[in-house]
Amino acid sequence: MRRFDLVEPTTLEEACGLIANNDDAKAIAGGTALLTLIKHGIFVPKTLVNLKKIQAASDISYGAQTGLRIGALTTIYDIEASPLVRQHYAVLAEACHVVANIRIRNMATIGGNLAHGDYQSDPPTVLVALEAVVELLSRTGMRRMKLSDFLKGSYETAIEPGELVSALILPPADHLRGTYTKFTAGSSEERPCVGIAALASMDEGVCVELRLAVGAVSPKPVRLQSGESMARGERLTQELIERIAQNAGRNVDPIDDLRGTADYKRHLVHVLTRRALSALAGV
Ligand SMILES: Cc1cc2nc3c(=O)[nH]c(=O)nc-3n(C[C@H](O)[C@H](O)[C@H](O)COP(=O)(O)OP(=O)(O)OC[C@H]3O[C@@H](n4cnc5c(N)ncnc54)[C@H](O)[C@@H]3O)c2cc1C
Repeated sequence: MRRFDLVEPTTLEEACGLIANNDDAKAIAGGTALLTLIKHGIFVPKTLVNLKKIQAASDISYGAQTGLRIGALTTIYDIEASPLVRQHYAVLAEACHVVANIRIRNMATIGGNLAHGDYQSDPPTVLVALEAVVELLSRTGMRRMKLSDFLKGSYETAIEPGELVSALILPPADHLRGTYTKFTAGSSEERPCVGIAALASMDEGVCVELRLAVGAVSPKPVRLQSGESMARGERLTQELIERIAQNAGRNVDPIDDLRGTADYKRHLVHVLTRRALSALAGV
C-alpha cells in the first residue's frame, strides 16, 4: 500500500502556498492520470494536495467581449454539458464528448488534462484552434500565456514549480463554425491516434478564415498554417479540400507510437482533414 498525506485546501491561493512550500507535494484534481502513475510507482509524492474542494475554480462564465472563462477544476463532462459552451463553442463540447467514457469525463478536469501535457488528448487540439489562453497562479501572482506556448511537448508544459493552472480563457468565436474529428486505433473510448479540429468563418460561401489544428500525432497540437492560407478568400470545393488535405498530410511531423507508425498517421491526417473540411463545407 502506498501512503501519503492528503491536504484539502479550499482556495487556489492556499493550494499554491502548499505546493510552493513542499517539494514532495503534488496537486491532484480528477486523479485519472496521476493515480495511474502513483499505482505503477512511476511517481510517489509524499503529500497530495486535493484541488477538488476548491469550488470557485470550477465555474464557467461568458461575456460577448471577453469570451469564455473555464475554471481549471471544471470537469470534461461539465464543459461538454455547459449551455454556454454549447451555444458559443459547440466544437469544444464536441471534442469533450469524445474523451474516454462518461466515468472518466465525470472525474477528469480540464486543468489536469492540460497540466499533464499528454499529447494523446482531445481537448487541447480544439483549444489550440480556438486560440485559448492559460491562466497560471502562484504565490507571487498570476500570469497568462497562449495554450500553444504552454504546451511544450510530450508531458512537458510551461508550468513553473509552485504554479497551478487556474483557468482557461477562450476569445469570442461566434464567427467560427467548427468540427472535431477523432480517430482511435482501438475502441471508441480510447485516446486519439489523430485528432483534427477545423474551424471556419464563411461569408456567402467564401472562406474568410480557416483554422486547422492537428493533435495526437506529434508532441503537441499544431496549426497547419499553409493549409489555412490556401482556403482564405476561396470557396471550399471538393478539389480545394483535397489539396488542403494532401498538404496537411505532408506538413505534419508524426512520431511512431503504440497507436501507429508515422506513415500511418500521416495518411490518417490526410483522410481526416478531408472529412473534417467536407463536413464543415457541407460538400
Ligand atoms: C482510461 C482513460 C482514457 C482516457 N481517454 C482519453 C481520451 O480519449 N481523450 C483525452 O483527451 N484524454 C483521455 N484520457 C486522459 C484524461 O483526459 C486525463 O487523464 C485527464 O483530463 C486529467 O485530468 P485530471 O483532473 O484527472 O488530472 P490529475 O490526474 O488529477 O492530474 C494530472 C496531472 O496534472 C496536475 N494537475 C492537475 N490539476 C492541476 C492544476 N489545476 N494545475 C496544475 N497542475 C495540475 C497533477 O499534479 C498531475 O501531474 C484518458 C484517461 C484515462 C484514465
